[in-house]
Amino acid sequence: MTSESPASPHFVIVGGGTAGWMSACLLARQLGPACRYTLVESSDIGIIGVGEGSTPYLRDFFRQLGLEEHDWMPACHATYKAGIRFPGWSTQPGYESYVHPFFNEADRPLGQAFIQQANLRRRGEDVDANPADFFLAAELARQRRAPVYSQPEHSPATDYAYHFDSGLLGAFLKRHAQEQLGLQHCVDTVAAVERHPESGDITALRLQDSGQRLEGDFFIDCSGFRGLLINEALGEPFIPWGDRLFNDRAIAIPTPLEPEQDISSETTSTALGHGWAWQIPLSSRYGNGYVYSSEFISDDAAEAALRAHLGPAAEGANARRLKMRVGRVARHWRHNCVAIGLSQGFIEPLEATALMLIQFSVQHLIEALQSGGGSGTMEDLRQRYNAQINQMFDGVLEYVQTHYLLNTRDDSDYWRANRTLKPCSDRLSELLRTWDQGGDFDAVLSRHEAALMYQRPSWYCLLAGMGRFPASAAGSLALPAQASTLSGLQARASLMDQTRRFFMPHREALAPMSRGLVDSLGPNR
Ligand SMILES: Cc1cc2nc3c(=O)[nH]c(=O)nc-3n(C[C@H](O)[C@H](O)[C@H](O)COP(=O)(O)OP(=O)(O)OC[C@H]3O[C@@H](n4cnc5c(N)ncnc54)[C@H](O)[C@@H]3O)c2cc1C
Repeated sequence: MTSESPASPHFVIVGGGTAGWMSACLLARQLGPACRYTLVESSDIGIIGVGEGSTPYLRDFFRQLGLEEHDWMPACHATYKAGIRFPGWSTQPGYESYVHPFFNEADRPLGQAFIQQANLRRRGEDVDANPADFFLAAELARQRRAPVYSQPEHSPATDYAYHFDSGLLGAFLKRHAQEQLGLQHCVDTVAAVERHPESGDITALRLQDSGQRLEGDFFIDCSGFRGLLINEALGEPFIPWGDRLFNDRAIAIPTPLEPEQDISSETTSTALGHGWAWQIPLSSRYGNGYVYSSEFISDDAAEAALRAHLGPAAEGANARRLKMRVGRVARHWRHNCVAIGLSQGFIEPLEATALMLIQFSVQHLIEALQSGGGSGTMEDLRQRYNAQINQMFDGVLEYVQTHYLLNTRDDSDYWRANRTLKPCSDRLSELLRTWDQGGDFDAVLSRHEAALMYQRPSWYCLLAGMGRFPASAAGSLALPAQASTLSGLQARASLMDQTRRFFMPHREALAPMSRGLVDSLGPNR
């Protein structure tokens, strides 16, 4: 690890939310029994308990733990996720429901055609360029099929993610960490943090109920929005992003699935009057919620708007109201403490990136600790780490903010104000300017490739999917202007065929795993 570390360092993780258990599992799995691990969580302070969508990187997380889908998906009521649909963000005719798909090997030919046509379209040519017509994931979601080939061994690679019940995922990881990875678990509330008088490092935590003094060598702050160690004990400033992202509240209401329909394989993020509403299909229910700005709408009015949006399905269901601290800390690693999860920062959940950032943060930490800093000092190591993690957070912020900048709604001050926000980086201003002026968008993407969190197809899908095209071509979804271009209808016909032939209906794909769970629980479950 590092020259300053003891032979068998003790990692103390504060917090038993998803961040705490993900961090504990990855650290214990990758650093192994050479280190000790203790996770302390309070029974008085709850977890946030939402966060049911993911990105494809979550597949690597389970792979790293050596877990197969059938090991964890049924236990977490998980389903497959092919992408996200965004109805109502754009009012451009033909672009009222934008799709951000996860990309597949099989997408190459149509994906290339889409990008070429998006470039023609933004230069005024009358060709189709809506990602909903050109990507397999969009068609899989339309047909409610799982994004997994029925014969994966003879098929191209697919990229997909999952939806899951976050409470069940936390419980699953907790069991795994204790039973398989030998982690110590302590239920108590941290009442005080002790620091070394000279170095400023954290030396121990004082626990409220047991009165115990829990010593450690390295502390992981997964205490949620409060930032118990990073903000409160170490005084690291939090940089709020209220001037870039307005939403600071959420309301969550679960609803039942429709038994007569198959389970959807996409998240739906519908723009409402003062924010947007998620719908996440699990195998047992829908997770729904409204993410909004308290500056523009009251909590009561937001709840009424969400209930109206959900209709009779939400009658009698309890609502949970949540406050969100949006922004990030300036430095994630201070002294012998790294903040991971909501304590390090949160970008509102539009692209469901929080667990991905947790995973990246732990992974980079493990690599940094294993490298020992090379020839540099510990301070160099911390600086490099902080720069890397900030780049990731800022890259996600850029992509998320673009959704708001591109909206064309005119039904509230909220949406108009979002449109007039300043882009959060010069890079984003350059990307938007180049797109709008018909310049070489690929060249700008390539120049910034190393710093972007979202790659070329995602940027094209966002800008084209919202119908950000010159007025002369907007709205005309006519037949192709050039023989070498494809109409959206032609593209979709080929996708429909592939989808029906090679992919199973979603429930059918999940069923063998659930049967496995029932078998493993035995007759007396
Ligand atoms: C509305 C909303 C929607 C979201 N949607 C998504 C999504 O779709 N996808 C996604 O990836 N993420 C999403 N997230 C984010 C995701 O929920 C969180 O990143 C994730 O749950 C991790 O939370 P956490 O573990 O950092 O914090 P928490 O869940 O808040 O856990 C904090 C832990 O710290 C403990 N603690 C606090 N103080 C003390 C103390 N003094 N002593 C001992 N223990 C203490 C608590 O007991 C608790 O166990 C969403 C978040 C919100 C608000």
